[in-house]
Amino acid sequence: MKQIYNFSAGPSVLPKPVLLKAKEELLDWHGSGVSVMEMSHRGKEFVSIAEKAERDLRRLLSIPSNYRVIFLQGGATSQFAMVPMNLLRGNAKANYVHTGAWSEKAINEAEKYCQVNIAATSAADGFKSIPDVNAWKVDYEAAYLHYTSNETIGGVEFGAIPEIDEMLLVSDMSSNILSRPLDVTQFGLIYAGAQKNMGPAGITLVIVREDLLGHCLPAAPSMYDLAAHVESHSMLNTPPTFNWYLVGLVLEWLLECGGVEAIAASNQRKANKLYGYIDESDFYSNPVEPLVRSRMNVPFLLADQSLESKFLKESAAEGLIALKGHRSVGGMRASIYNAMPESGVDALISFMIGFEQRYG
Ligand code: PMP
Repeated sequence: MKQIYNFSAGPSVLPKPVLLKAKEELLDWHGSGVSVMEMSHRGKEFVSIAEKAERDLRRLLSIPSNYRVIFLQGGATSQFAMVPMNLLRGNAKANYVHTGAWSEKAINEAEKYCQVNIAATSAADGFKSIPDVNAWKVDYEAAYLHYTSNETIGGVEFGAIPEIDEMLLVSDMSSNILSRPLDVTQFGLIYAGAQKNMGPAGITLVIVREDLLGHCLPAAPSMYDLAAHVESHSMLNTPPTFNWYLVGLVLEWLLECGGVEAIAASNQRKANKLYGYIDESDFYSNPVEPLVRSRMNVPFLLADQSLESKFLKESAAEGLIALKGHRSVGGMRASIYNAMPESGVDALISFMIGFEQRYG
């Protein structure tokens, strides 16, 4: 089979060893005679899969025992509502940082439940930067502060956790979780859809400090109550078992790769190479302020936009697929998550060099 490098923003490339293992185990998981898809979620086989996934995740991110790990359905989009529903705790206000399309969606949803204070926004420069944390207008009476640690569409990423004393931090880490070490103790809650760095679509991770639980809006459906999910060990209803199993395989793979430190070094190398080449060339450009450029999603433009469809057609013919930028911003976007090997970035750069030579 021809080598394909998949630059999709999500659902995105999965580690080859994970897919091979899933294939090998598809019809008969560990001698059980059945596929993971056919097992009861309450049986000992699946419970062992679920428990191992949580153990491996705790190891990878050094999650302390006062934090609970849950796997849910409904995507990160459900968390846009579940965060205010569960964390307002009688408060009428929350802080949000507006850095692009995904934080905007979180803000729009939160506004249904509370008064949103926009502590900072980079709207003025078209979301190409992140305002300096010292200039943020944080409302210290609000219940929490929410930020999007990586804006998947704009390609803007927080280099570090914002330091704000006396404020509960909540973060949407859908597109950069497990891409580098993370100090979980800085947060009240972290959430992430799996379909970029963790597995297939259809399962969402929530890590929540346990003392925050138990205050969900009384009228909220049980499926929106984090405490109910924690109490039932993420089995309030039938969970997406096969996706959960695949997440477990990805976590196992990450541990085998040397954990988040090792993957962070590889992610940094890949991003440096790609941005380095884009900056060197007059033919391609990336609009984001260098300090906040995403290591996961690299949007880029061609100086001559009329060449875009040619670029996409020729790159796809060379096995470099899904490079089209998000429909809201156009241009190109290379998503280079954990599972994208360095050879994929090298292949992309050499294609870009050749394309520039042919048409530049
Ligand atoms: N937040 C971010 C940063 C995302 O990239 C996405 C999906 N691309 C979402 C939230 C929404 O996730 P889901 O589709 O799982 O609801």
